[in-house]
Amino acid sequence: MTANLIILFGAPGSGKGTVAQYLKDKYDLHYFSTGNLLRNEVKEKTDVGLKVESILGVGGLAGDDIVNEIVAKNIDRVRGDEKIVLLDGYPRTKNQAVVLDGIWDTDSIRVMELDVNPEEVIFRISRRRICARCGSTYGPTDKIDVCPCGGELIKRKDDEEATVRNRLKEYERATLPLLLYYSDRSVKICGEGAPEEVVKRVDDCLCNWGIGKRR
Ligand SMILES: [Zn+2]
Repeated sequence: MTANLIILFGAPGSGKGTVAQYLKDKYDLHYFSTGNLLRNEVKEKTDVGLKVESILGVGGLAGDDIVNEIVAKNIDRVRGDEKIVLLDGYPRTKNQAVVLDGIWDTDSIRVMELDVNPEEVIFRISRRRICARCGSTYGPTDKIDVCPCGGELIKRKDDEEATVRNRLKEYERATLPLLLYYSDRSVKICGEGAPEEVVKRVDDCLCNWGIGKRR
């Protein structure tokens, strides 16, 4: 069976955002990020959105049930059309993965895991700087000291090496059970090297899954 729902996994600093953007630009697909879905519900003041708002308002995290409900509602809307569904940030727990298998054709779900050596991630992130004025971010290859907007480039506290190591550890702890769950449906893609090389690997992977370029 051809894949029609792709789940994207990648640690912080793995380049997942870049790959997601590339897929959105080059393929004709429905892109759902959990963060955006939750924000939309809140903005539209739906019943579940009001629940989310009250949880986030006290610094909580939306639980499995709420997230499952919101994702199910959104993918249900596009069920049966010919576009691929791309999920970013869901499922985040094994329980969510089991629920997803219950509402979508299991055989057509594929997982793409962006794999980058932790030391490479730490190198990337620890050299990341952010403009204190406009918030633009700059990587190790940007050889500038001042943002074009005139703002000073500073390091975020979150990007300190010890913090990054902790975030990576936390990501691994949370994601390992999911990767085991999906082991027969997932492909590891090397996220190292130039962005052009990484997206070439992504294209090859989709091609193997029977998904051609649609744009
Ligand atoms: Zn700036």
